[in-house]
Amino acid sequence: MILRIRYYFSLALFMIIAGTTTANSQAAFHVVPLGVKGGSDESNLSAYALAVKGTDSYVCLDAGTINFGIQKAIAAGLFKGHPAEVLKANIKGYLISHPHLDHLSGLIINSPDDGPKPIYGLPFCLNAFREKYFTWQAWGNFANEGEKPQIGKYHYVTLTAGQETPLEQTDMVVRPFILSHTGPELSTAFLVRHNEDYILYLGDTGADAVEKSDALQQLWQAISPLIKTKKLKGIFMEVSFTNEQPDNLLFGHLTPKHLMNEMTALSKLTGPDALKGMPVVITHIKPAPGREATVKKQLDELNTLKLNIILPQQAVPLDF
Ligand SMILES: [Zn+2]
Ligand SMILES: [Zn+2]
Repeated sequence: MILRIRYYFSLALFMIIAGTTTANSQAAFHVVPLGVKGGSDESNLSAYALAVKGTDSYVCLDAGTINFGIQKAIAAGLFKGHPAEVLKANIKGYLISHPHLDHLSGLIINSPDDGPKPIYGLPFCLNAFREKYFTWQAWGNFANEGEKPQIGKYHYVTLTAGQETPLEQTDMVVRPFILSHTGPELSTAFLVRHNEDYILYLGDTGADAVEKSDALQQLWQAISPLIKTKKLKGIFMEVSFTNEQPDNLLFGHLTPKHLMNEMTALSKLTGPDALKGMPVVITHIKPAPGREATVKKQLDELNTLKLNIILPQQAVPLDF
């Protein structure tokens, strides 16, 4: 009898909490940027903690800066506790777009303080962890495969391009797409889904025209139906340099002009009105004096599609 009362009490409490969460917000996703830049400043490299709005179960989209980003987020009141506690309790796994150091060095350096969790990636990316980073010469092997002895704190989850994989201990699933980044199949875009809501994060990538690739065109074809039906809530995409950077010195990256050319290619599939107001978060600007302001200005000048261009700041949360 007591058990039964407890059951109904818990159920009622759950319904109240669930109801409150929905009533308080229309947003589907909550993002805490732990790092937003594309180089130099090791305290602010690409890492975006993503959760279903109203939960505190995050996955990290790339992991360039972890500890300093969490410290800043705690100071801003976004997380509670000591950085190592937040890392262990709130970050449920890592989605790594490609194995360049500015996208994973925070994960490696913080591994002694971390708790058990998955590292998700396409085979080329996880191979680099096995063969280059979690080797006893470079660091300890904190993972469950590769050089022995294996500490086994992390387990690799190999993703398959185009297929959905559940994100452990969250209500999200991920579908990866291959991107070109100074060569074919060297970076990844992650399409994350919760129920019928989607968010898209692109790792480093060049434009199809420069990379001599159709990787972005294929991605646009896959996601255009989600834009037409308003299920895609936002896009994270890189701009590393200003328009002045010549194509032969882009090293697999985008400029405002190349990003907008790609958005125009996407709009040909969706119709131009479908992209109006779409949040596009500009990641990975490489630090240089005045560059961020110039990138913003150049994007605004080319923004005939009326995208909602967002320049993210470390530890300033975003809702989608
Ligand atoms: Zn990078
Ligand atoms: Zn890169």
